[in-house]
Amino acid sequence: MKRKKIIAGNWKMNHTVTETSGFINEFKRNIADVDGVDIVLCPTFTSLQIAVDLTQNTNIAIGAQNVHWSKNGAFTGEISPSMLLDIPVAYVILGHSERRQYFGETDETVNMRLKSTLTTPLKPIVCIGEKLDERESGITEKIISGQLNDGLKDITAQQMNDIVIAYEPVWAIGTGVTATPEQAQEVHAFIRNLINEKYGVNVSESIRIQYGGSVKSKNADTLLTQSDIDGALVGGASLDCNEFVNIIRSAE
Ligand code: PEP
Repeated sequence: MKRKKIIAGNWKMNHTVTETSGFINEFKRNIADVDGVDIVLCPTFTSLQIAVDLTQNTNIAIGAQNVHWSKNGAFTGEISPSMLLDIPVAYVILGHSERRQYFGETDETVNMRLKSTLTTPLKPIVCIGEKLDERESGITEKIISGQLNDGLKDITAQQMNDIVIAYEPVWAIGTGVTATPEQAQEVHAFIRNLINEKYGVNVSESIRIQYGGSVKSKNADTLLTQSDIDGALVGGASLDCNEFVNIIRSAE
């Protein structure tokens, strides 16, 4: 099955409102002709509104970098799905390794965020990936299957149609070390196979699995031509307009 590639930029804690608007005005001109690739930009919470306003009627969708599972309440510092929809935002990243590493997120809280998100039109990008010591001890598959089983607990086959998975080996995020296309493809095929076992071939053949971890314009081509890699979640390189445009053009 031909899956539409999806390239998402995760800006992490970068860019003020002014910087966001400068970036988007240049970016949208440079990719206006791109067709056949889903383009997503995930700025910080404070830049979401300007990003949505500036990308009306363009080929760019806006995503948030996290969301809480509750509708509202005493959760200081958190943002709810309905608040994102009010802007309105289209995508949300869940379970990024930096959230897991620095803010104590677990497969269980990722699952709570995911279930809550799926009661709304927001499209979740669910991040999974092994750490370096886990890869070196030969337990990558065990880690990935655990994260998938627990993170996607109670999710139905129909709900799976709205989910994007991002495979992001933690050792490749922000380090400049990219998984080789073969290493990435091997894990992507493993993930697709797990999804096939759990949800059947229709879901496993249509779900999109992005690769993330030091994707740059110079390595994007070889990663994106692997048969089970359906796009990229790009951190550092998405902060550079030309780099990000070139990665998107590789996906075209
Ligand atoms: C990320 O933040 O999801 C990411 C993959 O970062 P980088 O591209 O900088 O490795």
